[in-house]
Amino acid sequence: MLLLSAAVAFGQSLPSPEQFFGHAVGADKKLVRWDKQLEYLQLMAKGSDRMLFQEVGKTTENNPFVLMVISSPANLKNIERYRQINRRLFDPRTIASEQEAQALIQEARVFVLVTCSIHASEIGANQMTLEAVHRLATENSPEITTILNNVVFLLVPSLNPDGQIMVIDWYNKNLGTPNENAPMPWLYHKYVGHDNNRDAYMFTQKETQLIGRILYRDWLPQVWLDAHQMGSSGPRIFVMPAMDPINPNVDPLIYRNTGLLGFAQAAALERAGKEGIIYGEQYTYWWEGAMAWTGWWHNMLGLLTEVASVQLATPVEQQRAVPGQMTPAGGGRGGGRGQGAGGLLAAPTDVQFRSNYPRPWMGGRWTLRDIVDYNRIATFGLLQTAADLRVQLLDGVYRVGKRQIDMGKQGDPYAIVIPREQHDPPTVVKLLQTLALGGVEVHQAQAPFTADGAKYPAGTYVILMAQPFRAYAKDMLEAQVYPRISSAPGQPPRAPYDVAGWSLGMQMGVDTPFVRRPFEAELRKLESIDLPVGKVSGQGTAFLLSHEPNNSLVAVNRLLKAGSGVSWLTAPASLAGKSYPAGTIVVRGGQDLPATMAGLAKSLGIDAVAAEVPAGIAAMRIRSPRTALYQPWGGNMDEGWTRWLLEQNEFPFVTIHPEDLRTGNPASKFDVIVFPDISGQQIINGQTGRNVPEQYRGGIEESGLKALRAFIEGGGSVITIGRSSTLMLDSFAAPYRDGLQGIRREDFFCPGSVVRVLVDTTNPIAYGMQEDSNAYFANSMVLESVPSFPTMTTSIIVRYPNGNILKSGWLQGESYLYNKVGVAEVKLGKGRMVLMPLKVQQRAQPYATFKLLFNAILTSAVD
Ligand SMILES: [Zn+2]
Repeated sequence: MLLLSAAVAFGQSLPSPEQFFGHAVGADKKLVRWDKQLEYLQLMAKGSDRMLFQEVGKTTENNPFVLMVISSPANLKNIERYRQINRRLFDPRTIASEQEAQALIQEARVFVLVTCSIHASEIGANQMTLEAVHRLATENSPEITTILNNVVFLLVPSLNPDGQIMVIDWYNKNLGTPNENAPMPWLYHKYVGHDNNRDAYMFTQKETQLIGRILYRDWLPQVWLDAHQMGSSGPRIFVMPAMDPINPNVDPLIYRNTGLLGFAQAAALERAGKEGIIYGEQYTYWWEGAMAWTGWWHNMLGLLTEVASVQLATPVEQQRAVPGQMTPAGGGRGGGRGQGAGGLLAAPTDVQFRSNYPRPWMGGRWTLRDIVDYNRIATFGLLQTAADLRVQLLDGVYRVGKRQIDMGKQGDPYAIVIPREQHDPPTVVKLLQTLALGGVEVHQAQAPFTADGAKYPAGTYVILMAQPFRAYAKDMLEAQVYPRISSAPGQPPRAPYDVAGWSLGMQMGVDTPFVRRPFEAELRKLESIDLPVGKVSGQGTAFLLSHEPNNSLVAVNRLLKAGSGVSWLTAPASLAGKSYPAGTIVVRGGQDLPATMAGLAKSLGIDAVAAEVPAGIAAMRIRSPRTALYQPWGGNMDEGWTRWLLEQNEFPFVTIHPEDLRTGNPASKFDVIVFPDISGQQIINGQTGRNVPEQYRGGIEESGLKALRAFIEGGGSVITIGRSSTLMLDSFAAPYRDGLQGIRREDFFCPGSVVRVLVDTTNPIAYGMQEDSNAYFANSMVLESVPSFPTMTTSIIVRYPNGNILKSGWLQGESYLYNKVGVAEVKLGKGRMVLMPLKVQQRAQPYATFKLLFNAILTSAVD
């Protein structure tokens, strides 16, 4: 699989980046685009016997996704052997004795992975790799020799090549024009934009799948640094360690060693005389799902660096702080990534020297070259320390893995069992496939067994805890309990920095009972986890599908496309001696229906029952709705996730922009318009910045609101996800108000947790749902009823119960949610608004609530 190049020992004569590109790396306003970058990296790999260039796969937009493997020529010759040793050190079940382990550790090399610039505009690390690679290819200093001899350096120069290309092209296009530094009109990843690092356990996107393969299948690095950039006005670089709370499933040694390596990076930067180096603030050790963070549950030393930003490649200038004097607010931490129009950035406000920030940044000029320098020093500091501590780091990873397996054998929990027959069986398989991409081993019972007193049939899936990535499997499937830590007695507990709960089984509506005590069962390890073929049974001219699997709605989309008749029962019915609930999908007609249904059962894992269905049965006929998805200029991640989810589930739709509503007539083109999570004000006003190009300025304006009202009154449906529901409240007088408005953050806060909701499953929008369901709450808005105009008919589809709402994560002020509304339908004229402030499709994770969106779309064109 590795392309061993015909390496020549003319390393010294390889051109430097400056010679090759005609400018220094990080020069003001100069950026090296992905294609040119690859040309250079390939030249280095060809001319040096210290590195291999590997195209791991293609990105979302079909660009090469690249890994450089860098080590001494002798190590590269034996790379397969080192990979094999590494695999064994990560899986202590393959090592017979402590003696054998120590022998392997002595022989092994440390694998250090550095992933750059997943957030494409945080481009410094990506540009830095050109210099790093040249240095490693050509330098013969003791420092470089030690690194090459002890480390296998795995370098991913960009985790988001598509975005690298987009931001550079956009930047160059506008350089020197009135649109210089204008925000890009679209996301820097086709679907998920800046959320691409939040996909680290869901593996929905190609880039996540590729890095997952490098991490958990092909290479198993002991160390993984993910290089980012932060705001422009505070510290210059964040290095590990992060701050409390830690996660109890992560071995303490992981936390110690990430701290050790972060300190080594900080020390290298201090040695170089750099200022503004901070650790132990802002970023917490708690959560899964942000790339290198996820390494900790895989016994890997996941590291983060965040370097202060410029405006892509344009320097920023910041007022200098006067020591001992308070500076006006507006500078300091976080803040914007760049300069206000023409002016200087306000002086930094955080100028107090302290042990974790000994030489604060005081302001001044900051350039892309500075970012490149900080990244370069931090990277080589890490490589050098990894080389120096080779044995210690390898031994640590081995020991953590061994402890995980020993804990798994002891039990409590001993295993997680996942029954096959559940509400949505194909989603059970999807959950297991997702876990497997994260390196989790899955077994399947070959015979019935008993565990913790409960009986399970043959076919039940079992995740044994005695496996190297035990911490990951456990953490993904148990309920998170976010620690309540106060800064002082009597103070409210400190709220999470980001997502607090992720429990994937809960989010996906899959039961995953934990077994405490060891048990005997005949288990087979699954090499691949496949969708079981659905059954087709019964006799008759029509076919019945359960509404419960999400895949049934994929089937509906395929059937509508093929011209079959699709209806949903609107009342329970007894057919062929069996009773079927409202929502049951009835399929009639179309070409060769029995063969079509057999095909769907096979490819989607759903069961179909043939039956005679009386023509007059109470049902709604589903027509293929003409669907529009609203995309604001400037990009919106929730729009991207929604677009991805609709594509995956085979919903036909078109993308519309503000001008399509501002000047067009949606009523003639669409049955339903979906708005993603974006505030009503943003929909109306759009982008307003002075440097925004004319065609990307403005929102739907008053004329768009008018068109939208005419669209609804004429029979159209509008679905508003998240904060776009404010548009329906403010502009169309939907009889609800924002139920959390004006409530202080200390009183109510829920940044990302799994919660319990009650669902009216008699409403077609909730067909196939469970009455008591899980949902994902992420800073969501909720609705509270207000007295309605008599003309407005409303139905509440999802509401919060009056207790026991939190299932996983953090929820401060639960009672503020009691009886509030998560999803409601409001009739207006001949049409309707479906208000979905609950993020039913949040980052394509909560499979348990996807059907609310799918049903709302499909019920937009019915007879
Ligand atoms: Zn970032």
